[in-house]
Amino acid sequence: MTVKTILTEPNKLLRQISQPVDHVGENEQKLMDDMLETMYAAKGIGLAAIQIGFPKRIIVLDLTKDKAERNPMYFVNPTIHSKATEQSTYEEGCLSVPDQFAEISRPKQIEIEYLDYHGEKKLLKAEGLLATCIQHEMDHLEGILFIDYLSKLKKSMIIKKLSKQKTKSERIVV
Ligand code: ZN
Repeated sequence: MTVKTILTEPNKLLRQISQPVDHVGENEQKLMDDMLETMYAAKGIGLAAIQIGFPKRIIVLDLTKDKAERNPMYFVNPTIHSKATEQSTYEEGCLSVPDQFAEISRPKQIEIEYLDYHGEKKLLKAEGLLATCIQHEMDHLEGILFIDYLSKLKKSMIIKKLSKQKTKSERIVV
């Protein structure tokens, strides 16, 4: 397993629409292993393949806080079957939008269909934090970031800040 570099906004790749996976084989499983390792290393609870530069419809999640009780979840080609009209609100952050947080409302419950780590078709009813995380990650597959739900002004302020941080971190003195 390899820890990969996580792309951060602004980056055109993050805005790309990810393509469906036609077969879950060794390469896809290796990608999922790397995604999970990268997510754990960055102390995140979810990651989409595009965040490490692969435009494939693959998501990994692990909502457990305790290292000893890790519970990785893998979602390939997830699609939403139904959503509740009731909303829940969480303060969201994103590994691709470092150090920025905002309250976002999303449907409280969702029902999804996906393929698991072994390519088996699964159905899942999710609610609360899990439902929010799945929806956040599924947005990545469409090139959407949580800051897209904010006002234009707030979003442009965040992007400006991130661009500044980027030029700083890329600056070297030798
Ligand atoms: Zn994210």
